[in-house]
Amino acid sequence: MSSYLNEKLESIYQEVLHRNPGETEFHQAVREVLESLGPVLVKYPEFADQKIIQRLCEPERQVIFRVPWQDDRGQIHINRAFRVEFNSALGPYKGGMRFHPSVYLGIIKFLGFEQIFKNALTGMPIGGGKGGSDFDPKGKSDGEIMRFCQSMMTELYRYLGEYTDVPAGDIGVGQREIGYLFGQYKRITNRYESGVFTGKGLDWGGSRARKEATGYGTVFFLDEMFKVRGDSLEGKTCVVSGSGNVAIYAIEKITSLGAKVVACSDSNGVIVDKDGIDLALLKQIKEVERRRISAYVQEKKSATYMEGGNIWTVPCQIALPCATQNELNGKDAKILVDQGCIAVAEGANMPTTPEGIHVFQRAGIAYAPGKAANAGGVATSALEMQQNASRDLWSFEYTEKRLQEIMVDIHRNCYETAEEFGASGNYVVGANIGGFLKVASAMVAMGVI
Ligand code: NDP
Repeated sequence: MSSYLNEKLESIYQEVLHRNPGETEFHQAVREVLESLGPVLVKYPEFADQKIIQRLCEPERQVIFRVPWQDDRGQIHINRAFRVEFNSALGPYKGGMRFHPSVYLGIIKFLGFEQIFKNALTGMPIGGGKGGSDFDPKGKSDGEIMRFCQSMMTELYRYLGEYTDVPAGDIGVGQREIGYLFGQYKRITNRYESGVFTGKGLDWGGSRARKEATGYGTVFFLDEMFKVRGDSLEGKTCVVSGSGNVAIYAIEKITSLGAKVVACSDSNGVIVDKDGIDLALLKQIKEVERRRISAYVQEKKSATYMEGGNIWTVPCQIALPCATQNELNGKDAKILVDQGCIAVAEGANMPTTPEGIHVFQRAGIAYAPGKAANAGGVATSALEMQQNASRDLWSFEYTEKRLQEIMVDIHRNCYETAEEFGASGNYVVGANIGGFLKVASAMVAMGVI
């Protein structure tokens, strides 16, 4: 899909293409935001005069470096790592680290760009950044993961700090990796600077409900969309792609609210369980044993496994893409809508292609883009930073309550902003404009920097 951009925005977009060749995911993320901004420039011409959009599209700083490490057999490997410090108008750069073989600059920049608006929507004092490496953690021993993380941090530490840049997890980076990264940072700097990393373990500066936050937050946002439509999650059938951190806790929360999740996946295949996914078994396989999702059917006879299957062909009323970017295309979206899907909330970042989004919007179903729906993860990271700053540890109930309030606020902001700009019910427009206005106003206030 190529929606209309006015002349000014089209020329900004062309400049982004020209300056960032080959970074297709970054182009896609920028275009999606620009498509929402036409009416904003009419209402606030000062943002155009101040070249706010052009400034937003150029990261404040980008670091690319070599990460050499030794495997258990003594073989040397060289990976490439990135940290893109995109925008600090609202606070220190904040965004996760991704370890996946597909990582290159274009992926980190799309994630960092989205993070600016997402973080603004949370209302918390955090700027936008993202990092990662083309390192593949699958099949590596704990020792190998540790040596890789230590080597990475030996370079990365100089760019971080609780008031500068605060990483967290993402695909391939969970509490184990954060432990190794934080440990090496502490060792090099000789500072116990808890606020420099989020997603930490509970015994060493972590927050309750951080692990659950992205998945739970996505479902809280979804629940708000249902309420607006006079409906509820009770009794709905749902499919959730992925089976990692976000997917597992989206399944947990939506199940607790009365929906039934009948399918989930990993990059090899899909499991379908008509009785509803057995969450305890899923956690055991993925979190404890770190096995493939196919192991589920060995334990649960009611389930089937489709190697290489497409999860979006499983009939459902709610779809939660929680795996990776561009995992749901126009064809998939059409299948979902044709089979009765009425709501989609993105736990992952940019999982739906522009064609897919177009299908959902044309069908008039409730569609929540990731930068709004999955903001609960980073919002709870900001709550973790608050707890670190005050040397405190809140209860699970209190932290979850704060998370829910934030998600309700984000939903309201997106909903009302869409209304105000003549795009009622369009959460893409609401999220893009709502996030943009906060960052743009701060940038204007701080002058040409
Ligand atoms: P995890 O590494 O815990 O899980 C990722 C899941 O997605 C795994 O099941 C993985 O399967 C699957 N997956 C990853 N890449 C692909 C691919 N190329 N094709 C098919 N499946 C794939 O990551 P998270 O759950 O943390 O992250 C999932 C998504 O949520 C990402 O888009 C991330 O950016 C986003 N997100 C995460 C947040 C967080 O707090 N963790 C916050 C906000 C957004 P396999 O094991 O086979 O690779």
